Amino acid sequence: MTERLYYIDSHLVKFSAVVQSCEERNGKWAVKLDRTAFFPGGGGQLPDTGYIGGVRVADMEELDDGEIIHITESPLDPGAGVECAIDWDTRFGYMQNHTGEHIISGLAHSLFGVNNIGFHMGAEGVIVDWDGYLDREQLEEIERRANEAIHRDLPITICFPGPEELGGLEYRSKLDITENVRLVSIEDVDCCACCAPHCLRTGEVGQIKLYESVKNKGGVRVRMLAGMDAYEDMRIKFANNSEISNALSAKPNETAAAVHRLMDSAEELKLQIRELKDSLIRRSVSALEQTEGNICVFEPDFDGDMLRHVVNVGMELCGGICAAFSGGDRAWKYCMGSKNVNISKAGKQINADLSGRGGGKPPMIQGSMTASRQEIEEYFKKALFGAE
Ligand SMILES: [Zn+2]
Repeated sequence: MTERLYYIDSHLVKFSAVVQSCEERNGKWAVKLDRTAFFPGGGGQLPDTGYIGGVRVADMEELDDGEIIHITESPLDPGAGVECAIDWDTRFGYMQNHTGEHIISGLAHSLFGVNNIGFHMGAEGVIVDWDGYLDREQLEEIERRANEAIHRDLPITICFPGPEELGGLEYRSKLDITENVRLVSIEDVDCCACCAPHCLRTGEVGQIKLYESVKNKGGVRVRMLAGMDAYEDMRIKFANNSEISNALSAKPNETAAAVHRLMDSAEELKLQIRELKDSLIRRSVSALEQTEGNICVFEPDFDGDMLRHVVNVGMELCGGICAAFSGGDRAWKYCMGSKNVNISKAGKQINADLSGRGGGKPPMIQGSMTASRQEIEEYFKKALFGAE
């Protein structure tokens, strides 16, 4: 059985070992060592990566019989002595987040009586599930106390108590086991059964930040970041806030209020634009006159929605087609409609005659046109369209 060096020394980065076996598996290699500082993953913590004898360790596995497998990208010679190193920055980040999770779950348990029922690390940070609901205020208290525990730089110790000693101890555990229990104790904060490597003192965790929380199966799911991950996240958020602060000429701690003011004024502007558009539409349709023939309107600055409003009114006033155009010479957007003419069919003819494209279902079609204004005006003065 592989000796687990990480059980005793979570800060061991380089070590020597002997290759016990090496078997090909799906284009990679499954390597067993006599001893290892590589943590295979578990308890919510991700597996280590690194090098064995200069060969990359891409992943880790722990078999049901307790054997630890290093998945390498090249083969290693069984029996060979090898120098090994884990990717320390990655591992330390995992330990900061993992130990941070112990601190907040220990506090959540002692302060509010909730139990950790799930924990995993991913790209988005650490996700923790507790079996009772905690509101924002309670989560803020946990966060504040957790950071206080970090500042007190409390010792974190590992022990393997026997079944009798274990019976007299109070500790958090997801499994009901009494043999080979590894207890991780954080003075004054937590005692929990766990197999993973942790920081040596709470000071190493650096900082803890709790993010959004959602109700989850009668409890609560919280996202957390600790250590350098929390620092990096806050650095990005700080840079974003600085940009907002500069752009809005707002004090850094008053950006939210400034954004709300901006949103209110944008809403106000939207209303004003709507009112202006309505008055332009009213002005345009008030100039339309009843006719048995076609109506042809040019409103260079109208958008598609405004053209439709004009055509809606114009359709009622004419026996033929109401055609409304916006844009400029030889670059028109149009909307056409009719109560009497099959506008889809007529539209094809109009597009062919006036270099246009577009269509739609009766009673209205839309499109674009490249004829001149004069050509269009003369065309609609003369053209007669049938109902078919
Ligand atoms: Zn742990």
